[in-house]
Amino acid sequence: MKGLEFPLVGTKVAGLTKKFDLTDLHSRREYFEAKTGKEITKLKDFLETGVFMAFLVGKKASGKGTRAGMFAEVFGWDKVALISAGDIVREVHGELKTASGRKDVQDYLEKNYRGYISVNEGIKAILGRSQDRVSVPDEIMLALMKREIAKHPGKAIFVDGFPRTLDQISYSLFFRDLARFRDDPDVFILIDTPLSVIDERIKYRVVCPKCKISRNIRLHITRDIDYDSDSGNFVMHCDNPSCQRAVMIAKEGDNLGVEPIKGRLETDEKVLRSVLGIHGVPKVTLRTHVPVEKANSLFDEYEFTPEYVLSKDLKSRKVRVDEKIWVVKDDNDVASYSLVAAVDVVLMIKQLADILGL
Ligand SMILES: [Zn+2]
Repeated sequence: MKGLEFPLVGTKVAGLTKKFDLTDLHSRREYFEAKTGKEITKLKDFLETGVFMAFLVGKKASGKGTRAGMFAEVFGWDKVALISAGDIVREVHGELKTASGRKDVQDYLEKNYRGYISVNEGIKAILGRSQDRVSVPDEIMLALMKREIAKHPGKAIFVDGFPRTLDQISYSLFFRDLARFRDDPDVFILIDTPLSVIDERIKYRVVCPKCKISRNIRLHITRDIDYDSDSGNFVMHCDNPSCQRAVMIAKEGDNLGVEPIKGRLETDEKVLRSVLGIHGVPKVTLRTHVPVEKANSLFDEYEFTPEYVLSKDLKSRKVRVDEKIWVVKDDNDVASYSLVAAVDVVLMIKQLADILGL
């Protein structure tokens, strides 16, 4: 099947030559201001009294939460909340373990849930759910999301992880009424990430056994890398001082890349395509990658994801790190650069301002 082809929109601003370090919070703030300051001002005014509800739709590991988090960086967590369906189920699972927690959840569901199975069966489904939470009935999920959203009055809401199946798309169309958002605008934010990008993010991922932070030996390195002459491998240490140079390790199965989650990614892609065909709800489309031949006319070089090439310097016996632009094949086999998450946030802000009529 042909890959998705979202509109190709750049961020280049005529006359803006300053380079920004998008890994640095302060520099990133300047970058957002320089690239989309006008829309930020309008959206800030809007968020003084207004809210919206945005459903993030994209493949697993496409960085949905990262993008919402950076949006909140610009507008503040007092104006924005990120609701993750997966986190809600995990948290409710925890609540159900205590008697008072269970009573809270049960009372809420008795009042707010509508569906074919009983509240008790719904609770059983949460407690016995499989890892991928598919077993939690949609109607229970809706009630739990409504409960979570009620904890964030007056904030724009980003929903991550719902809709996740084709059935849930219909629910998402009417969710704003259910969640008492009524006439407040709702919008789908669609993120198209090439399979090759997700594959390498997983394949080269390493995790600190102490603080559990995850990095990537090719795409997101720490400053502390060694060469192990016994195994012939490069070894990355966690640079969190309290981890005392713990060696970061790959999780079992990560070396297989997207292979073990192929089925899940196919469903994600179907959901993306299906939402794309929906009428009546506005959509933000984020492309996340740009064909190499068009890249420099639309974006600045620091907006492309770099890859790090490690080599052993024979003289100094130190590890040498070279940085170059990462070239990936998109789903249509076109050589492309992958854009860093901050770029999507610029494009998201511009499209949102437009959709909200600001
Ligand atoms: Zn650590």
